[in-house]
Amino acid sequence: MQTKFIFVTGGVVSSLGKGIISASLGRLLQARGFSVTIQKFDPYINIDPGTLNPYEHGECYVTDDGMETDLDLGHYERFTGIRTTRGNSVTTGRIYKSVIDKERRGDYLGKTIQVVPHITDEIKHRMMRVDDPWNYDFVITEVGGTIGDIESAPFMEAIRQLRWELGDRAVNVHLTFVPYLKAADELKTKPTQHSVKELQSMGIQPDILVLRTEKDLNEGIMHKVASFCNVDPDCVVQSQDLPSIYEVPVNMHRQGLDVALLRKLKMEVKQDSDMESWMHFLKLQREATREIHVGLVGKYALQDAYKSIRESLNIAGIYNGVKTKLVFVDSEELTEENIAEKLEGLQGVVICPGFGSRGIEGKIVAAHYTRTHNIPTFGICLGMQMMVIEFARNVLGYADANSREMDAETPHGVIDLMESQKAITNMGGTMRLGAYPCKLRTGSKVRSLYGAENISERHRHRYEFNNEYRDQYEAQGMKCVGVNPDSDLVEIVEIPANTWYVGTQFHPEYKSTVLKPHPLFLDFIKTITNIK
Ligand code: GLN
Repeated sequence: MQTKFIFVTGGVVSSLGKGIISASLGRLLQARGFSVTIQKFDPYINIDPGTLNPYEHGECYVTDDGMETDLDLGHYERFTGIRTTRGNSVTTGRIYKSVIDKERRGDYLGKTIQVVPHITDEIKHRMMRVDDPWNYDFVITEVGGTIGDIESAPFMEAIRQLRWELGDRAVNVHLTFVPYLKAADELKTKPTQHSVKELQSMGIQPDILVLRTEKDLNEGIMHKVASFCNVDPDCVVQSQDLPSIYEVPVNMHRQGLDVALLRKLKMEVKQDSDMESWMHFLKLQREATREIHVGLVGKYALQDAYKSIRESLNIAGIYNGVKTKLVFVDSEELTEENIAEKLEGLQGVVICPGFGSRGIEGKIVAAHYTRTHNIPTFGICLGMQMMVIEFARNVLGYADANSREMDAETPHGVIDLMESQKAITNMGGTMRLGAYPCKLRTGSKVRSLYGAENISERHRHRYEFNNEYRDQYEAQGMKCVGVNPDSDLVEIVEIPANTWYVGTQFHPEYKSTVLKPHPLFLDFIKTITNIK
């Protein structure tokens, strides 16, 4: 089958959930037997979001091939199980860089380089995935930002051209907002009409409209929008706030979004949709009523900052028949004096990843308390490093132990930079990024949880466990149960004497999906659930 292209744009306001809608579309097309990939185009100048503060942009999601990307790629992977790559995340910065590099190389010799056609051609090339050898049935392209933004104009122009060139092989799904005015007790469609007008003024006619709303939209409103916006009535669907984002694909399916989409692409609607495993998950979700409380010890209160960790814990809870209530614990406020009170009522603790020294002493205090009180603890990346430092300070007897990231002069740098990292001065894209192999120790807990000796997990960090201290850790009970077979770097530490005290240098949360939850998260929650 010739690849079809779906462009997802958004209007009126940001944060409408274009990522969830794109991921849901991917899921629904997969359920009909199609192969799908989903990509995100972001209109900012950063090459990637790796250098952005989580407060600005939420979590940075990392792909197998080591690209630091937007958190929407996490939704794509969790909903569909696809593996995204660096080709699935494109920013204006990357587009311009590649055009400017070509200009310097002399690829356009003699020409004036302009937004149209040079920048738009570069965008089109990537939207079409010309360099991707894989032949997908569908490529879904989500464009970040809101219609009318100055910076997204070249993306819109590229979509306009592609729509024209591809004919029936391309459709535009436009997401807008229908606000409810309390004082008037009315739902208002005017912003949607304006947003569609804006899109039309750029030469793009939407095929499908997804209306985000807090209240149920009646048939009358949907018809009104359809007729004002030149869209077929069956191509207007509503996306109401739902208790869980994982209900969205089913809600879209119920309203016939996938069928409307196929019809617009002049495709036969053959197979029935197979959503069985997804429906099973939703059933488990609805049935999971018993609550467990897990602390997230970190420095960002923002929901999106630890998005994949939150979702991984959530999903693992559902498969264990429980509702995981996540309690944010600000590591900056933790002290030896207040830790017992701050962790009261929490059945397990995740020590979160992070960069820089803010809040790390609190993470060390938390690691100390949970280790000595045998509270199930999962340290991820910086969290694992803090477990290692705590152990050095309180068990190995090095009171001044630290990571060289936080204290370059420490005499006991139990977390240190690898030799090969020392010469690097650039901040962007220079960490240990992406998938690396890890060999698990026979007889260890993690070995049995993964059910495999050799695994692969994704990384995003500069500093490493310092192997000079490895024997001392082993002798005192913190075991290095996962090691990179090529570089001998420690990837997982565990204290087997505790019920569940595991730290991973990698980020397991990037690989946990709805239909394939991660074994470490599953067992962490299972352990908590079984504690009486
Ligand atoms: N700051 C630490 C490092 O660079 C940990 C990074 C992280 O938690 N992702 O090694």
